[in-house]
Amino acid sequence: MEWQVPLSDLSYGEEEYRAALDVLESGWLTMGAVTERFERAFAECLGGRHAIAVSNATAALHVANLVLGVGPGDEVIVPSLSFVATANAVKYANATPVFADIRGEEDLCISPEAIRAKITPRTKAIVVMHYGGYMCDMPAILAIAKEHDLTVIEDAAHAPGAELNGKKAGTWGEIGCFSFFSNKNLVTGEGGMIVTDRDDLAEQIRLLRSHGMTSLTWDRHRGRAHSYDVVALGYNYRIDELRSALGLVQLEKLADNNRRRRTISEHYRSELAKLGFLSLPHSSHPGLSAAHLFPVLLDAGAERQGFIKSMHARGIQTSVHYPPIHQFSLYRQDEGSPYLPMTEQIALREVTLPLYPTMNDAQVELVIKSVDRELARVTT
Ligand SMILES: *Cc1c(COP(=O)(O)O)cnc(C)c1O
Repeated sequence: MEWQVPLSDLSYGEEEYRAALDVLESGWLTMGAVTERFERAFAECLGGRHAIAVSNATAALHVANLVLGVGPGDEVIVPSLSFVATANAVKYANATPVFADIRGEEDLCISPEAIRAKITPRTKAIVVMHYGGYMCDMPAILAIAKEHDLTVIEDAAHAPGAELNGKKAGTWGEIGCFSFFSNKNLVTGEGGMIVTDRDDLAEQIRLLRSHGMTSLTWDRHRGRAHSYDVVALGYNYRIDELRSALGLVQLEKLADNNRRRRTISEHYRSELAKLGFLSLPHSSHPGLSAAHLFPVLLDAGAERQGFIKSMHARGIQTSVHYPPIHQFSLYRQDEGSPYLPMTEQIALREVTLPLYPTMNDAQVELVIKSVDRELARVTT
């Protein structure tokens, strides 16, 4: 299908092509100097101490759980209204994900009160996810974590560049995890980043990223090391120079791209508010959003599938973020059926509209006009 307006699209140009060619011409493809530059630039952009590039955000979340000591018998509180990797990473560490509800129609992020209600003596950590690039209530969540001596992991896959109280997403908790998958705000195809201020965690993360080995091929190539020991059971979660080169260019575009995403979101918001049939979450978000997604909530009685189909017929791609994790077969089988009323009702009403920085004004208007016409047909 040739979409008139796809759900998301790349913001790629000559700079990315040039950066990739430079790496090919350099003759060094695996993790090396370009990756080190990408890590330094990312850390600097966030105002964080360490940034460690990895193969994807799922690997980042896995390693984050491991280095924070999450293991068998532990519980980790997670949102259910997220991508499945948020919870899978807890299971990789042989711990139990415990799902907490979101705040409500206005805020699709995990609720601090719901987190508090799920804490038990087995709770080890909290994973938050900044839904759509809108940050969770981090001051409240960190206060609860402190009170109960818990660590906090931020799944910041939607939120590179997002801020709350002037502090960037990914730098509030012990560890922040980012994704550079094709439909995210900063794209390298596959890729991810782990951010932390703690030197001890950074050292362990670097080890686990590459087989628990004490030196990299890159170090040996540069004559910095001649041999290595293996001191932990690590993985191959490395990124490579091609992706890091793309990441460096994309990082330079991030602020402008996020600004364009916010401008489109604000226009959507003001125009769609006039229709009266839609609820528009995050309308009074206090921070600076990365505007990764534009979610709308249909009325409870509206026929969502019909709406999605008629938008499709007009060439407009939409999506649903997300089918709740706790309702997947694997999770029902392993974790039973917790009742999360807000997550469950909002997941039935949510539709994500197209949003990407290269979206032109005509495409934005087409989406708004189509929502207006099609909504009138499916709303009872
Ligand atoms: C995309 C995404 C991930 C996984 O990212 P990958 O880089 O594809 O592994 C995790 N959590 C959330 C919320 C995401 O949107």
